[in-house]
Amino acid sequence: MQQFLIYNTLSHQKELFTPLTPDHVGMYVCGPTVYGDGHLGHARPAITFDVLFRYLKHLGYKVRYVRNITDVGHLEHDADEGEDKIAKKARLEQLEPMEVAQYYTNRYHDAMDRLNVLRPSIEPHASGHIIEQIEIIQKILDAGYAYVSNGSVYFDVRKYHEATHKYGILSGRVIDEMLSTTRELDGQNEKHETADFALWKKAAPEHIMRWNSPWSVGFPGWHTECTAMGTKYLGETFDIHGGGMDLMFPHHESEIAQQTAITGHGPCKYWMHNNMITINGQKMGKSLGNFITLDEFFTGNHELLNQAYSPMTIRFFILQAHYRSTVDFSNEALVAAEKGYDRLMQAYKTLCSLQPSKSSSVDVKGYRQLCYDAMNDDMNTPIVISHLFDAARVINTVNDRKATLTQNDIDELKSVFQTFVFDVLGLRDEASTDNTALIDGLMQMILDVRAVAKSNKDWATSDKIRDSLAALGVAVKDGKDGATWELK
Ligand code: ZN
Repeated sequence: MQQFLIYNTLSHQKELFTPLTPDHVGMYVCGPTVYGDGHLGHARPAITFDVLFRYLKHLGYKVRYVRNITDVGHLEHDADEGEDKIAKKARLEQLEPMEVAQYYTNRYHDAMDRLNVLRPSIEPHASGHIIEQIEIIQKILDAGYAYVSNGSVYFDVRKYHEATHKYGILSGRVIDEMLSTTRELDGQNEKHETADFALWKKAAPEHIMRWNSPWSVGFPGWHTECTAMGTKYLGETFDIHGGGMDLMFPHHESEIAQQTAITGHGPCKYWMHNNMITINGQKMGKSLGNFITLDEFFTGNHELLNQAYSPMTIRFFILQAHYRSTVDFSNEALVAAEKGYDRLMQAYKTLCSLQPSKSSSVDVKGYRQLCYDAMNDDMNTPIVISHLFDAARVINTVNDRKATLTQNDIDELKSVFQTFVFDVLGLRDEASTDNTALIDGLMQMILDVRAVAKSNKDWATSDKIRDSLAALGVAVKDGKDGATWELK
């Protein structure tokens, strides 16, 4: 087994990955709030934890990967106030909230499929786990770390922090200061302290998404869902909890507080966070006008884009940076990623057509371990890619007949490419997944066979070909320059 080091955001250091149960890994990653199209900020965590999922499976672990869909409870500004993001979209577009959630869930899946992100083992919806969330809230109330106020339930951050000194343990927020400066809340506010967060919110009359609970007809707070679903599918403690750095506070900090209030410990052994993507050095945001959806990248249909960028270019672009580094989008950076991706795909094609020699003039035995070493060092994908580029250079040198490789060494390189380029980094050859050229070629071959049958006056065969194609929805037209075809 490889010695896999991962950076634990909680301990601020790299730790040797050792799962709680031998050979099994439980992993939870916060998924999207489905009220709009996916953008680069969705692609990065999805791809980062997809590579982790793929690598753990490659190492032989049985992985249960849970990535949720937030379809209720995520209020505007990530705070306890404001309208539910999905309910707001539903109101503006005159749709059922679940229509909005389903539509954007489908769109998210489409975009992730194109990015070759594997589907998680379980993809639970917050709205499908209201009962579990109510149970979690009741347990926190029973433990004495929450209070009911006007039908809503709030987590008592001061009491929790005074008992455990743990609020801020993940994000490094200095909560003592926060608590001492937030006493200004007047009697009108339901919360005792600004730092307190909602576990359950009583629904205002106009709020569409509402459920019965012991406290009021209302809806769960945003942080409650991940505690409920993580516990349900992975247990009270699981191995890895992941997400974007922007979720560390208040979302993940609050998840730790909720779980600790109930069990005395946090939800997981390792916290992992990917860094953010900036656009030309600026934070990405709808209000800043630099918000580019994944579909817009794929089509090039956005004023900031000079061209369309394929899903694999986007994936390669994200993998070219270490997941804990910031990534800055620019057209230049994406064009460079496109070239880098093409270079790897071309190298693999060249590799598959290399002529073996009786002896090798270059040593290629080291590449596999170099790639493992880079992956084992906290998933250092840019270093993996640099080793693969080195291997590509060797392949091109052999192709130019300036070096030689034996069949064994060619097979070893093929296996390294298969493992790291395709299985672990999850890249795929977009050219070969586009079947247009293949279909054109096959159709031409079929029409050639039919032309031969006709010239032999073998009408039974030529009619059978025409009728079989018609049954498949392909119309054949005979003209004076031969037959042509089109889809009906
Ligand atoms: Zn979450």
